[in-house]
Amino acid sequence: MPELPEVEVCKLGISPHIINQKVDDVIVRFWQLRWPIPKEVLTIKGEVLQRVERRSKYLMLVFESGTLLIHLGMSGTIRVVNDGVAVVKHDHFDLAFTNGNILRLNDPRRFGAVLWLPEHKDIDGVLSKLGPEPLSEAFNADYLFACAKGRKTPIKNFLMSNPVVVGVGNIYANEALFLAGILPTSLAGSISKRRITILVDTIKAVLESAISQGGTTLKDFTQADGKPGYFAQSLNVYGRGGEPCLVCETELTEIRQSNRTTVYCKKCQKK
Ligand SMILES: [Zn+2]
Repeated sequence: MPELPEVEVCKLGISPHIINQKVDDVIVRFWQLRWPIPKEVLTIKGEVLQRVERRSKYLMLVFESGTLLIHLGMSGTIRVVNDGVAVVKHDHFDLAFTNGNILRLNDPRRFGAVLWLPEHKDIDGVLSKLGPEPLSEAFNADYLFACAKGRKTPIKNFLMSNPVVVGVGNIYANEALFLAGILPTSLAGSISKRRITILVDTIKAVLESAISQGGTTLKDFTQADGKPGYFAQSLNVYGRGGEPCLVCETELTEIRQSNRTTVYCKKCQKK
C-alpha cells in the first residue's frame, strides 16, 4: 500500500512534467473506483494545471475551477507517459496534456479514488476530518501530548489514527516507536512529555528518511514499464518479527494490534 512518503515522492516525480500544461483530454475507462468518479472531471478539459500538492495520501491537482483529488488506495500507481504508450489492463484514468504527456492511473484492486472539489470546496468533507501533517510545524510535542492526555488507546493505534495525525501508516508507526524506545502497547495517555517529544522527532525522521530514499525512484514515474510508488527501505523492525534486534540482538516480538502486525524489541522498547 502506498504510504505518505510514496505519495510525496509521486508528487515530486510527476509535477515537473505536467505543471503549467493545458489538459487536452480526460479519459475515464472505468468509472467505479472506491467511489464513482464524478462526471465533473470531464469539465477540466482546456484548463491549465496550476500546481500539485499533497494532503495526507491525497494528490491534489489544482486547476482554476477546482481541485482534482487522486488517492492510490491499496494498489494504485500513477505515472507520466508519452501519448504513444499503449494502455494496459487496469489503466482506468488518463489526464492528457497538450505537451503530449499523459498522467495515467493504474489500479488493479480499484480501492483508489478520483474526486473533484468544485471551486476547491471540500463538499464531501474528505479533507476536513484529517489531523495535521506529520512533517508540518503543527505536529509537535505540545500538540501530541495534549491530544494523548487521558487516552487509553495503545500508542501505536493512536499514532495511526487520522484525526490525530495523518500519514503515519503501519510501517512508520512500528519504526518510529522502535527508534523512540516506546512499547507499541503503552497507553497513549501514560507517556511522559519528554518521551512524546522524542517520538515526534522520530516520526518526522523516519518519514523524511523514506522520502529521501524514494527520491532515487523519481525517474520511474516517467517510465512506461517502471513500478513507481513503492520503494525498498532499510527497516529496523517492520517485517522482521522473530529476527534479532539490530541494536541488542534480542529476538523481535510480533503481535497483532487492531488486526495489523506490530513488531518490537522487548528490551529496547519500554512502557
Ligand atoms: Zn533491542
